[in-house]
Amino acid sequence: MNPVETTELSKNFGDIAAVKGVSLTVRRGEVYGFLGPNGAGKTTTLRMLLGLIRPSSGGVRLLGNPPGHGYLDKVGALIEGPAFYPYLSGRKNLVVLADHAGVARTRVDAVLDTVGLAGRAGDRYATYSLGMKQRLGLASALLKEPELLILDEPTNGLDPAGMADMRVTIRELAANGCTVLLSSHLLAEVEQICDRVGVISRGELVAETTVAELRAGGTLRVVAQPFD
Ligand code: ATP
Repeated sequence: MNPVETTELSKNFGDIAAVKGVSLTVRRGEVYGFLGPNGAGKTTTLRMLLGLIRPSSGGVRLLGNPPGHGYLDKVGALIEGPAFYPYLSGRKNLVVLADHAGVARTRVDAVLDTVGLAGRAGDRYATYSLGMKQRLGLASALLKEPELLILDEPTNGLDPAGMADMRVTIRELAANGCTVLLSSHLLAEVEQICDRVGVISRGELVAETTVAELRAGGTLRVVAQPFD
C-alpha cells in the first residue's frame, strides 16, 4: 500500500478546470515534490487529498483509505496557515492543540525540538518571524507523529536561511521514516530535498520522474524550464 494514490483526480470550479485527471503515487519513505507554477492546481489537489474539498471526479487513497476514513491521525498537514493565538507563546499554542487532540504534553517539547524552535518556545507567537511561524505550523502538524506529511509550499515567503532550515528539517523527518508530499514552485528546491517529482501544469500532471534523472537533464528539464 502506497501512502498516497490518486486516480484520475479532477476538480472544476464552475467553468475552471483546476485539476484534470491527476494520477499520482507517493511511495513509503520518500519525499515527493509536486512542482508547478502559481495557479497550476497544486493546492486544489492537496485539499482534495485531505478531504477539505470534494473531487469533481476521480479517487483518492491516503494510507489505503478514502478521505475521511480514519487515517487523519496518521497524516500531518500544513496547508492553510494554522490559526495560532498571537498573545500566547509558541509552546502554549501547541499545548492547546495537544490537549484538544488528546496528545501528551511531552510531545510538545519533542516537536519544538524537531523544528528547531525550543529556544524561542516561550516567546509570544506575535513576535515570531515568518520562518518561525512556519516552523510552528510544521510542529503542529507533527504532534500526532504522522506517517505522512502533506505540506503546501512549506518554504513560501521565507528568507534564504529560513528556507534552508525548513529543507533540512523536512529531510530529517524523511530520514526518520516519515513520507512527505510537498508542493513547490521552485525547481531548485525540489531538486534539493525531494526523491521524486511530479510536474503539474494547468491542472495536468505532465511529467513524473526521480530527482536523480532530473539532475541528469533529459526531457523533464524541458518541461520544467518555466519554473526555474
Ligand atoms: P498557488 O501556488 O498560487 O496556490 P496552485 O498550483 O496551488 O497555485 P490552485 O490554488 O490549486 O493552484 O489553483 C488552481 C486554479 O484553480 C487557479 O486557476 C485558481 O484560480 C482556481 N481555483 C482554486 N480554488 C478555487 C475556488 N475555490 N474557486 C474558484 N477557482 C479556484
